Amino acid sequence: MKLFEEHQIEIYNSISGKKEHFTPINEGHIGLYVCGPTVYSNVHLGNVRTFMSFDMIFRYFKHLGYKVRYVRNITDAGHLENDADQGEDRIAKKARIEQLEPMEVVQMYTVDFHNTLNAFNFLPPSIEPTATGHIVEQIEIIKEIIDNGFAYEANGSIYFDVLKYNESNNYGILSGRKIEDLMHNTRTLDGQSDKKNPQDFALWKKAEPEHIMRWPSPWGIGFPGWHLECTAMSTKYLGEQFDIHGGGLDLKFPHHECEIAQAKAWHNHNPVKYWMHANMLTLNGQKMAKSTGNNILPAEIISGDTDKLSKGFSPSVVRFFMMQAHYRSILDFSNDALLASEKGFQKLMDALNILPSLTASKASSDFDVSAWKQRCYNAMNDDFNTPILIAELFSAVKYINQIKDGTNNIDAEDLETFQQTLDAFVFDILGLKNISTDSSSDKLSDTVQLLISMRNEARTQKNFALSDQIRDQLAEIGIQLKDGKDGTTFSIE
Ligand code: AMP
Ligand code: ZN
Repeated sequence: MKLFEEHQIEIYNSISGKKEHFTPINEGHIGLYVCGPTVYSNVHLGNVRTFMSFDMIFRYFKHLGYKVRYVRNITDAGHLENDADQGEDRIAKKARIEQLEPMEVVQMYTVDFHNTLNAFNFLPPSIEPTATGHIVEQIEIIKEIIDNGFAYEANGSIYFDVLKYNESNNYGILSGRKIEDLMHNTRTLDGQSDKKNPQDFALWKKAEPEHIMRWPSPWGIGFPGWHLECTAMSTKYLGEQFDIHGGGLDLKFPHHECEIAQAKAWHNHNPVKYWMHANMLTLNGQKMAKSTGNNILPAEIISGDTDKLSKGFSPSVVRFFMMQAHYRSILDFSNDALLASEKGFQKLMDALNILPSLTASKASSDFDVSAWKQRCYNAMNDDFNTPILIAELFSAVKYINQIKDGTNNIDAEDLETFQQTLDAFVFDILGLKNISTDSSSDKLSDTVQLLISMRNEARTQKNFALSDQIRDQLAEIGIQLKDGKDGTTFSIE
């Protein structure tokens, strides 16, 4: 029996605005699509937060025994400035400024993205498709949407006809926007006069001579619209209807709204069963964003090389900080908040490190391990409530410390369950790493210092056999002692 058969997950579905029972389309299998980064600059910590929320969700599904196909794309074309249909492609703009090939920009920031996610202990997705690798698929979809009467050609570009679509569908079903309001509020910008209506959006854009990222199509040389790539890649790998589509909250409109419209106009199915949106990371109360400069880079946090922080923080501390907030809550980043998370993380790791040395006993205990374990699952089953899970982990920390102090007990069977459950939630699901934390490296250095003073004592007593033995045996395990005029120092290989 798979674990998922014992657990009913509730997911907050953005399209219904409420928590719903999660039932995958194909039993035991989950199709998950998450909009990936636009690779025109280094990912900032806000981006990392959204991807981390879905990494945790992916990890939990896998823990429960689901077979998950997790598709997270790379946007390497079509995403224009201001998320609009006008302006320069973000990647082409960077390439122009830096005097690089657009694909050099893509390569550079895709590598940065992967390195960053590795540093934060992310699991790789099952498929990581690129927009430029799916131009053919996008052209085919556009042809069919035109045939179905929901898109039109204008001056070498193809636009999605929102009003026509809305006659038989509900444009605004996800974001709650009303078509009348959109019509009032969408201004016609210069150069957008090709559109029948300003709220129409581009499926394909004619490439002006200066637009260097360009592909041939039945409508001339051009490039695909940003929204279409996700429809093409999600459908190709997960089917016309799949379980979960995720992304940051800022993508709900227009990006995800347009994805629904494109899919329905193309194959007449609602493409996604559960829409999940992760909330924003803020800095000084404002959304972290590449464009405004109000952001912090992962490398700056790890090194501490920024005036926003008093010191550097390990990736696991940052991960713990993020997991202390629910993925649907806004989280504000600050030095104080990270310092507090570091303390909490340390406390958790210290407790886990003494866990193997605890001994079981038959004496009575007032901590019910199986009820606690169930509460950990309940927290995750309730729309992935990691802050509640972490509160449960801290009640476990308290219990571990009581057992250590001899004020509480655990029997052998419970000890095994307790250890396995903690490992699963802390390392497999939250994705934290028990790095050799400051306190454990302090302990190692204290231990070596102790051996050095014992060796000095032996030398004073002219017990050279013992003093040599200490030095040689330390050397065997890779710890070199060096006698200098200021005393003995050591180095670890
Ligand atoms: P982009 O590369 O701009 O397309 O963004 C990649 C992902 O990061 C998207 O899912 C965005 O919604 C998400 N994102 C952007 N800014 C933030 C932020 N401040 N906090 C959380 N997620 C963000
Ligand atoms: Zn997308």
